[in-house]
Amino acid sequence: MARRENGRPPALARPTLWREAALVGGVWTRGDTSLAVTDPASGQVLGHVPNLPARVVLHAVEAAHRALPAWRAQTAKARGALLRRWSELILANQEDLARIVSSEQGKPLAEAVSEVRSAAAYAEWFAEEARRAYGDVIPGHLADKRLQVIKTPVGVVGAITPWNFPSSMVTRKLAPALAAGCTVVLKPSELTPFSALALAALAEEAGAPTGVINVVTGDAAPIGDVLVEDPRVRKLTFTGSTAVGRQLAGRSLANLKRVSLELGGNAPFIVFEDADVEAAVEGAMIAKFRNAGQTCICANRFLVHEAVYDAFARRLAERAQGLVLGGGLEPDTTQGPLINAAAIDKARRHVRDALERGARLLTGGEAIGGTHFQPTVLTEAPPDALLCREETFGPVAGLIRFSGEREAMEMANDSAAGLAAYVYTRDLARSHRLAEALEYGMIGFNTGAMTTEAAPFGGIKESGQGREGSRYGLDDYLDVKTICIDVPAL
Ligand code: NAP
Repeated sequence: MARRENGRPPALARPTLWREAALVGGVWTRGDTSLAVTDPASGQVLGHVPNLPARVVLHAVEAAHRALPAWRAQTAKARGALLRRWSELILANQEDLARIVSSEQGKPLAEAVSEVRSAAAYAEWFAEEARRAYGDVIPGHLADKRLQVIKTPVGVVGAITPWNFPSSMVTRKLAPALAAGCTVVLKPSELTPFSALALAALAEEAGAPTGVINVVTGDAAPIGDVLVEDPRVRKLTFTGSTAVGRQLAGRSLANLKRVSLELGGNAPFIVFEDADVEAAVEGAMIAKFRNAGQTCICANRFLVHEAVYDAFARRLAERAQGLVLGGGLEPDTTQGPLINAAAIDKARRHVRDALERGARLLTGGEAIGGTHFQPTVLTEAPPDALLCREETFGPVAGLIRFSGEREAMEMANDSAAGLAAYVYTRDLARSHRLAEALEYGMIGFNTGAMTTEAAPFGGIKESGQGREGSRYGLDDYLDVKTICIDVPAL
């Protein structure tokens, strides 16, 4: 595929995975105008993708609608076989896919490889789940009635994904949709479209029929308008910020579409007096600094018992100072750049606000070279500081002191968000109490890493609705249909 002069894509073993075109009805489409995609570490242009007008997005919906009857009519086993081939191709091309992720998103290559493996794992998981869309047989409510429940695909799905996990967010939505028998129009973030386009190229290679997967690129608003307004799109699945999700969900519900939402978080990370402090610091490094703090389940507020507060703060600052800042593809990098200038500004604003409210800076606190932000640890962060109230989405850890379990639990729940929470304690009874009391969709006890395709991922409160991954993930793409049959006695 020809490349623009001023784009510098990463070196790939298979250059054909780099697609500067959208996929509409089985045709790789360039469009009349394009958007530049940049490497967040250097600001250099990597390449361009089409800026599609609504007219072409409508073609994509039309293609998905046309492909639906044949796709849903395939056996679940056949749909699963396609997903398995897709998963295998993702793994076979994981180095290239990871280089694409690192280039457009900025995360260190090792993190990008694990994201791509996770993308493959979702495709593999739903290859297996496709055959388990079981219904029910219910004892008849009358002597001459028989009741059954069957599950049928929702139909055409509009999927919108964010920039922070440009690869795994795609299969986490597309694999269950395809397993269920749905067809899809996907809109990846304009900041990171190349990962989605490469995955779509591999899905084609795996044998995805024309129109089953469509990927549209360009300005978000006109694409979003089509996906929420076109009656042929029966469901919207969105991962991104709470503000945009709220707006798109409102409009989708007004059109009576099904909606799944994976939105922002404000995860508490609670360290009790009986915790293994070294293990808690290890978990905090993952939960806070992975992807430079740009994950929805990032620890955002550290609630630390006064008995271990100083030891935890000191060790966390030491470990944070050991992170190596650089471009994602540089071999020593353990923390990549933030995605753009707005992300740097937010981190800076949160640090300044906390300091003005009396927090103390243990380490970091500065932007470097306009694209990186130092790993930062602040102590005595007041609970009303911005970094405790809002998702920072950057490598900034604010530590709050507490002295009792109830106080910690109440502070942890004092948030509109309800995505992830972390607890470090060795007390079994306390673990059970908090598992029940914490208002979060996912809770990690003595671990900073809990995401897997085998477990349901999702939030409560303003963090969203619906679940991805696991056997629950398939339900989001299935309608429940009741069958009542009249069976008169002989
Ligand atoms: P965002 O600004 O809400 O964008 C998410 C997606 O929505 C992008 O594809 C974006 O497109 C698109 N979008 C924006 N405005 C739109 C509109 N009017 N119509 C249709 N689409 C629109 O969020 P983000 O900054 O990319 O992602 C970070 C947020 O996502 C954080 O809050 C994070 O917590 C959340 N997140 C949640 C999960 C989860 O599973 N709960 C996972 C990952 C991230 P463009 O980028 O092209 O503008």
